[in-house]
Amino acid sequence: MSDTPHLATLAVHAGNAVDAGTGAIRRPLVMANSYALPEDPSELSWSGTGTPLYTRNGGANQGWLEEKLAALDGGTTAVALASGMAAQHAVFFAALRSGHHVVSSDTTYVGTYRLLTELLPAKYGITATLVDSSDPAAVAAAIRPETRLVHVETPANPTTRITDVAAVAEVAHAAGALLSVDATFATPVLQRPLALGADVVVHSLTKYVNGHGDAMGGAVIGGGEAGTALVEDVRREAMVNVGGVISPFNAWLIMRGSVTLPMRMRAHCAGAMAVARFLAQDPRVAYVAYPGLPSHPQHALAARTLDGGFGGMLAFAVRGDGAAQNRFVAALRLITSAVSLGHDESLIVHVSGDDERARHYPEEFRRYGHLRLSVGLEDPRDLTADLDQALATVARAAT
Ligand SMILES: *Cc1c(COP(=O)(O)O)cnc(C)c1O
Repeated sequence: MSDTPHLATLAVHAGNAVDAGTGAIRRPLVMANSYALPEDPSELSWSGTGTPLYTRNGGANQGWLEEKLAALDGGTTAVALASGMAAQHAVFFAALRSGHHVVSSDTTYVGTYRLLTELLPAKYGITATLVDSSDPAAVAAAIRPETRLVHVETPANPTTRITDVAAVAEVAHAAGALLSVDATFATPVLQRPLALGADVVVHSLTKYVNGHGDAMGGAVIGGGEAGTALVEDVRREAMVNVGGVISPFNAWLIMRGSVTLPMRMRAHCAGAMAVARFLAQDPRVAYVAYPGLPSHPQHALAARTLDGGFGGMLAFAVRGDGAAQNRFVAALRLITSAVSLGHDESLIVHVSGDDERARHYPEEFRRYGHLRLSVGLEDPRDLTADLDQALATVARAAT
């Protein structure tokens, strides 16, 4: 192996090793709550994470998964938690205290939006200013003396807006704040935010990293001095004491799923590009938001900053009202109507134009609502055929 293995090699090997107990060449599934104590346990910290002790302080499968996730994102350390939201909350919980301020993307996953706009202000007195983070000047203008964290999501759920991580990292660090990046849509395959200056990266492992729609998890990966320290705070405060630990079985499943992440992302990107092009040329479609299309507002930035593709997520709407969007989804035969994303199968969800977050979305999202489509690993020709026949069904109903 070369000194710095490439991502596909890390995806196969990082975190894996021969099991000392059995000689198995795969990490075993260790379903234990407790680990044998040293001869003199009296000096152990019950909140410690260094010695195998109790699975809420860190289990074997969790540790192996964390090793792999840190390698994939080029970080120094990682902590895996029960869900993407457990991970995102943990970053806010560990980095902030009462009176602190956050500058965040105004377009984020709904749970993140809820934390920043409702729960953190009401319960902890932590305030947030939401801005269009694709404009680094808007991020800079929102900074206050008490700003401790800048948080961005790129590509953003659901509009696929792109933020320039390197530019925003400069703004954050100039203000003495940390930068966290929710990179769930990009995965470490398309972008490694730590190398661009982010202090921590957050992933919902539930999505692409696991990739098979059968396990939930989340992770925070840190790099640099401040990012490493923040991940250790997350481990101690949010995991051991608040308890959002990942189950060993889910950690094992996610580690298994992540082996194929690089090749799956290539297929997701190719499929999404084919689907986006098909939709964009169809007059029955009102709009398509996909960073790979020249019509996307940050297409040039995406082409410059994403490596090897534009992701597997897009948003669009058919011409017509909300009932037309529902008729279209009902007419799909292959694409499944369900939340979540990044699974092997394509998933679609209809969100109406008066969603609470829609005032932050582009005008066409408000006018038509949107269909968020996670393009799966099916043959793109079958996906476009399915979309085509569903568009025909809606058009027939309209005449
Ligand atoms: C799904 C998602 C989350 C939350 O992850 P869960 O595993 O569902 O808790 C956070 N951020 C983004 C961008 C997501 O898509």
